[in-house]
This record gives sequence, C-alpha cells and structure tokens, in this order.
Amino acid sequence: MKIQEVTSTTKEQRVAVHSHIRGLGLNEDGTAQQIASGFVGQETAREAAGVVVDLIRSKKMAGRAVLLAGAPGTGKTALALALAQELGNKVPFCPMVGSEVFSSEIKKTEVLMENFRRAIGLRIKEIKEVYEGEVTELTPEETENPLGGYAKTVSHVVIGLKTVKGNKQLKLDPMIYESMQKEKVQVGDVIYIEASTGAVKRVGRSDAYATEFDLEAETYVPMPKGEVHKKKEIIQDVTLHDLDVANARPQGGQDIMSIMNQISKPKKTEITDKLRKEINKVVNKYIEQGTAELVPGVLFIDEVHMLDIECFTYLNRALESSLSPIVVFATNRGMCTIRGTDDVVSPHGIPLDLLDRLLIIRTVPYTLEEIRVILGIRAKIEGLKVQDEALEMLAQIGVKTSLRYANQLLTPGNILARINGRDEIDVENIEEVDKLFYDAKGSAKILAEHSERYIS
Ligand code: ATP
Repeated sequence: MKIQEVTSTTKEQRVAVHSHIRGLGLNEDGTAQQIASGFVGQETAREAAGVVVDLIRSKKMAGRAVLLAGAPGTGKTALALALAQELGNKVPFCPMVGSEVFSSEIKKTEVLMENFRRAIGLRIKEIKEVYEGEVTELTPEETENPLGGYAKTVSHVVIGLKTVKGNKQLKLDPMIYESMQKEKVQVGDVIYIEASTGAVKRVGRSDAYATEFDLEAETYVPMPKGEVHKKKEIIQDVTLHDLDVANARPQGGQDIMSIMNQISKPKKTEITDKLRKEINKVVNKYIEQGTAELVPGVLFIDEVHMLDIECFTYLNRALESSLSPIVVFATNRGMCTIRGTDDVVSPHGIPLDLLDRLLIIRTVPYTLEEIRVILGIRAKIEGLKVQDEALEMLAQIGVKTSLRYANQLLTPGNILARINGRDEIDVENIEEVDKLFYDAKGSAKILAEHSERYIS
C-alpha cells in the first residue's frame, strides 16, 4: 500500500463563504472581543466554543459532541469552522447536511463513515534527502579534477530529476542517453561523457547522490561542488478519506472495455470496509512508530434532525472510537419526531442517549449593527463596493429577513450596478434585487395567502 498526496476538492465551496472567519476571536482569558478574527457578535456562543476547544486540548471530549442550536443564518457554520481553526491551521473541517445520508446508491452509515474519515487528519513526517546546494556551472579550466572537469570529457553524477528540482538541469542529449543505457548507468554513478562522441564511461560512485534516478526523465546534472544534500523533514497533511481514495484499486481487468468503463464511471471505485481496515492498520503502525500523528478535525453535521434512528445508533458508536473527529451538530428545530421512529418526540429530533453526550451552545439573532458589519466584511472580501446607505438598507433587510438572505443579495446587487455602468452598489440596486427575489418568510406568506393555487 502506498500513501500518496491527494487533495480533497469537494466541500470547498461550502467553506468559501466563510473565508473571512479565522478563529473564535477570544482574549487570553477566554472572553470574546466584539469583533475579532473575522467574527462579529455572538459572544456567548464564541466563549462557549472556546471552552470546548480547551476540553478538546485537555482530551476531555472523548465520546462527547457539540450541538449548536439557533435560527438559520446565526453563524452556526461559521462557529464550527472557527472552532476547527482554533485547533490548528491544518485541522480538517468537513461540513455536511443531515439529508446527505439519504441516497439511492450509498448506505446511510457509509455516507457518515466517509465524512468521519474526511474529518480525521494524519500528519506524516518523512525524512527526505533533498538537494539544496547550488549547481556550479563547470568551466573547462577544471579539467584536472575528474569530478569537476568540463573539457573534452565531462564528469557527471547521475541523480534523479526529483532530487534536484529547482536547480539547473540539462536536457539529456538522445545520443548520450543511449550511451547511458548501454553502460547501464545507475543512480549515484559518476560518469565521464566524451563531449565529441557522447560516449559515456562509468568512473566511480558517489554515495551522496544515491537516491532515485529516473532514466525516463532524461535529465542529468553537472557535478555540484560542496555539501549539497541535506536531510529535511517533509510534512504531509492528508485525511483518512484521502488515503482511502488513493488506495482504492479500480476494479476490472486491463482490457480496453474495462478501462472505458472506469472512465465513464469514475466514482465507482469502491472503498470497502476491508480497505479501510487495512488503512487503519497501516496508520496505527505509523502512529506507533512516530512517523505519523493523528489530527482529529471537526465534522459539522447541519440539520441534525434530518438524520434517522439508524444514523444516531451508528453515531453513538462512532463517537466512542479512537479514530473519531470532534462532531459538531447544528439544528434550528425544537421538539420534533425522531426520523425512523413512529412517534418518538425528542428535543431537536435527537434521541436522548445521544443528547446526553452533547454540549449545547445557543446562537442568537444578530442586531442591525452586527449585520451591517458582517455584510461590510463580506463585501470587502468579495471585492464589491457598496455605498454606505445601500449597506445600511441591506442590513435592515437582514434584520427583517435573515443575515443569509441579505448576504445573498450582494452579488446580484453588484450585477445590477455593473449593468448600469457603475462599480458601486447603490440603494436603488438593493431595492431592485430585493423586489426581484423573495426571502423565505415572504415566499411562505404568499404561499399561505394563495394556497388554493398551489398543489399541497
Ligand atoms: P447557520 O449555519 O447558522 O445557518 P452560517 O454560519 O451558515 O449560519 P450564513 O447565514 O451562511 O451563516 O451567513 C452568511 C455569511 O455571514 C457567511 O459568510 C458567514 O460566514 C457570515 N457570518 C455569519 N455569522 C457571522 C459572525 N458572527 N461574524 C462574522 N461573519 C458571520
């Protein structure tokens, strides 16, 4: 099995809207600053999240989880992200919505398991020999030194392309390449090259360069002078899910048809339980040896009431595992029926045995001033210019509807401004987009008033 570097590409957009959030913005004593680290208001919730960070750091969160309870657009996602950032800058953050588990193709618990593994990081430390010295261009005067000459015959040490990245490299002449193959030149060999004929002669070994050599790369480098190889610690951050994906072997044989099948169904590469177990085994071995370190991240599950009893049973068990991320649930529901049961009503639709494990943090609606500041930050981050009066109007719309709705009007507002040949969003643009679109409450009101016209 091989550990490769792969980057997660999904889920990035969901995090992108919170790009201004850099942490919880707390003082040394754990109190929240009104505006800090991109965070505005919501002080009590931020301070509570700070306590959770302390619990995690002192390893007192095992088997427990967090529940953020509050209306939509009160910064629950932002808070979960900030919590992850407080834990360290390479700590994975994986957001998902409860309803994601329902798919016709994948088992519910499989979806949960995948997201769990997206939220568990692994920091792999590798000692690599890297080439750091400068390559000195060799001059003809240095002929006497067989390791530094560059006249009729030139001495070279054959080293791999990868180890000399960033330094001068010479493209290998096809003629020389052929001679090198004939001579069966190996990595670390010191060779002479007859300048006129391109003939290659092996004259010795240099252990300092005995690293990978790729003849295919058709590269060789003039003999460098001095100490150029250094041992360097290379750190790679991956998630368990990255490892699963990188090691899932495509199914089928090598014939054209099966290759075509793989192209048309790229997602079908199966990550089996067996594969995960195998990966866990290797990961645990690395951790024991000290080559790797586990970095538990944050799994954010929004709309937790959408999960059903089967998922909750799974989660209860998964939270106990030694390979578990910090799970942060979010909900805007009060008492409701637990999905998958006939009529068991429970707070937030969560079974009592899971509720028992939760630290619950409430988020509250924002004030006009807070909304204005947040919208101002978002506009700046997105490179949009907004007139002061327009920002004020947008904030008022935010108070009446929600921060999320007001935030979403920024982009169409900017489009209108540009259509009118201006690069600054003004009051009229905001009025117009607010008229064009409906916020959730407004839309619900219309539905209620004209219910006879809609299919119910
Ligand atoms: P929730 O998860 O509670 O629905 P959210 O965090 O997803 O809320 P959105 O409604 O998506 O928030 O918020 C719109 C924008 O406002 C996002 O860019 C979000 O990061 C930002 N935001 C929300 N709350 C705060 C806050 N207290 N300080 C700074 N920015 C915030």
